[in-house]
Amino acid sequence: MTDDTYLPRGLPDPVPSPEGLGTEYWAATRNHKLVVQRCQDCRTWQWGPEIICRSCGGEKLGYEQVSGKGTIFSWQRAWHPVHASLKDAMPYIVVLVELADAGKVRMIGNLLGDREQPVQIGVSVEAVFEDHPGDHPFTLVQWRKT
Ligand SMILES: [Zn+2]
Repeated sequence: MTDDTYLPRGLPDPVPSPEGLGTEYWAATRNHKLVVQRCQDCRTWQWGPEIICRSCGGEKLGYEQVSGKGTIFSWQRAWHPVHASLKDAMPYIVVLVELADAGKVRMIGNLLGDREQPVQIGVSVEAVFEDHPGDHPFTLVQWRKT
């Protein structure tokens, strides 16, 4: 296990969807900015990105930067590896974070820090940008308590 990423390398690298819907999101994370898709007609936030607005059906969608602050909506401590590369990284904590300024959009990630720390729903967290350099660099959004 490396000490610069929460989970060890070996999982497939994240990539934008074949339609390119996540391209702007992944580019923003490389710049340590968190963006969320938003309908430019009805102003509804949505995540994950879609081709049309889930609220009004409009096709005029864009991305807008958000603060990266939120609260834990749900969480799980994983004790059994779902991928061979995780077998020495147990347990790890997965959190579902409700963003503070994006219409209750929820994003998933890992909760940084002690892997056996107590976790409570409603606790404030903030985004942490975890860089993965290499031939195909990418940046994951992780979370830490504030
Ligand atoms: Zn809309």
